[in-house]
Amino acid sequence: MRSWTVNPPNIEITGLENHSLRIFDSKTQRINLIPKQAEPIQIYVCGITPYDSAHLGHAFTYLAFDLMIRAMRVTKQNVIYVQNVTDIDDPLFERSRKTNKKWTSIVDDQLEIYRKDMQALNIMAPDHFVGVVENIDTINDEIEKTIKRKLTYQLGTKWYFQTRKANKSLLVKDVEDHELITLANERGCDTDTPGKLNAIDPIVWKESKEDEPSWNRDFGTGRPGWHIQCISLANKYAKLPLHIQGGGKDLIFPHHAMCEEQAMALGLGDLATNYCHVGMVSYQGSKMSKSKGNLVFVHELINKGISPMVIRTCLMLNHWQSDWEFQEVDIIKAEKLLEKINTNLTGKYFSRNEFDFILESMLNNIQTPKILEFLSQLDPDKNDERSVPTDTVLSALLGLDLESV
Ligand SMILES: [Zn+2]
Repeated sequence: MRSWTVNPPNIEITGLENHSLRIFDSKTQRINLIPKQAEPIQIYVCGITPYDSAHLGHAFTYLAFDLMIRAMRVTKQNVIYVQNVTDIDDPLFERSRKTNKKWTSIVDDQLEIYRKDMQALNIMAPDHFVGVVENIDTINDEIEKTIKRKLTYQLGTKWYFQTRKANKSLLVKDVEDHELITLANERGCDTDTPGKLNAIDPIVWKESKEDEPSWNRDFGTGRPGWHIQCISLANKYAKLPLHIQGGGKDLIFPHHAMCEEQAMALGLGDLATNYCHVGMVSYQGSKMSKSKGNLVFVHELINKGISPMVIRTCLMLNHWQSDWEFQEVDIIKAEKLLEKINTNLTGKYFSRNEFDFILESMLNNIQTPKILEFLSQLDPDKNDERSVPTDTVLSALLGLDLESV
């Protein structure tokens, strides 16, 4: 898919090769080292379903991975970054029916806004920005394998993956079954379909409705389910096991747990060694969601004249793992902070100690609130030996392009 362009971090500072990123992993519930290696680090981040444009919650998610990738690239670690687009999914077709607009036009329009938003926020583009339709043969081949290996069962025109207790994902090992069913139900899984062997068994293939796209295969005429899409795309565009599989916290279950279990059953091994789940952004008292209608869209903020760098700063005032509530006053706070940073630091130099503090705070689980607090209190006219250009560091590590503010 057509992606967008953001300049890669460009920084020439010696002695960074020995540094590595440490990042919180949801599966082990601890901060893990991503060891330096000659081969690129493999990152797969679950992308948008393009039936609506990016709200602040999406931006917060993709910003988190942008920051991790910046930190790694600054320390001379190559990365392969894959992000998918779920351009085959129920909500998209529902939106098409509701608006009487062709689903392909919705995808085209929303992706255009998404690309512009990401570019404006200086969020690094993936190396592979990949959709379902353009990879449909790969995905359907994987479904065929799943069916042939008897990992599935058929109910009417649907094929379900059979989850097994013994393979319960470590991501949800401490969660009771009845809680999983509730979660799966809330997140679109048809838990009460009669005949299912386990209420949480996910669909790998189902018949398309008349106005939906469909493909002919030996096992039926229809379209793929969600989890198998990501497994197939990760396997095609990245080298497994991924070093990081990422997304919002709401993807832990069923999506990432089911991806992990299905990949294992398919013989692909561990899908990922680390899972990074980004905190949820709420607004007016509850998590931003389509159903509640409490969405704050990035392009709407930009259209109101708010600088994308202010929006980026506003997001970075929150640690990537934290759940937080957006309030309009946050924009004013970010504006003031950015103005201060701009006035005090543009065209100046960090001392090596100051630079090391910023880099270390990034590498130690991306602590942007701590860095912004530090920057706000810096006195750039202090007498230390000042050696590292501020603009280069802020741009490369934090994606803050001060000139454009
Ligand atoms: Zn995914």
